[in-house]
Amino acid sequence: MASTFYNEILTEHNIHPFHKHKMEGANFVLEGVNPSCGDDIVLSLKVDDTDKIVDGAYVGDGCAISQASADMMLDLVIGRTKEEALKLKDIFLRMIKGEITDEEKRQLEEASVLEDVSHMPARVKCAVLGWHTLEEMFDEDKAE
Ligand code: ZN
Repeated sequence: MASTFYNEILTEHNIHPFHKHKMEGANFVLEGVNPSCGDDIVLSLKVDDTDKIVDGAYVGDGCAISQASADMMLDLVIGRTKEEALKLKDIFLRMIKGEITDEEKRQLEEASVLEDVSHMPARVKCAVLGWHTLEEMFDEDKAE
């Protein structure tokens, strides 16, 4: 049952990705690659003066998990502050390691279907690609 639901959501985000397109006016752009699978995404975010992510998009190629995960991540982080987005990133990474509470899982909304990936070590890098790219993007910003 759970795995059918998982496949449906993944398929839906691959056939009709909401955020997979080029975006004008992004002030954060970073490419993330996962050579072990051949996944490649370029993440673009528009962040305003108050550190709020007002818009976001990605383009890329790769397996269903990597692309769906990036799409679901954007669903979650658009409208949030950088800090909130990084908090969700921590929760997502802990979910993949199997270290998450039910309350935290609810915060991940649809992205919580990727919990199944915690049982598929070879796919972990696919699932976290978008989130790692987001993290790196904001870390670099902090270093400036
Ligand atoms: Zn992959």
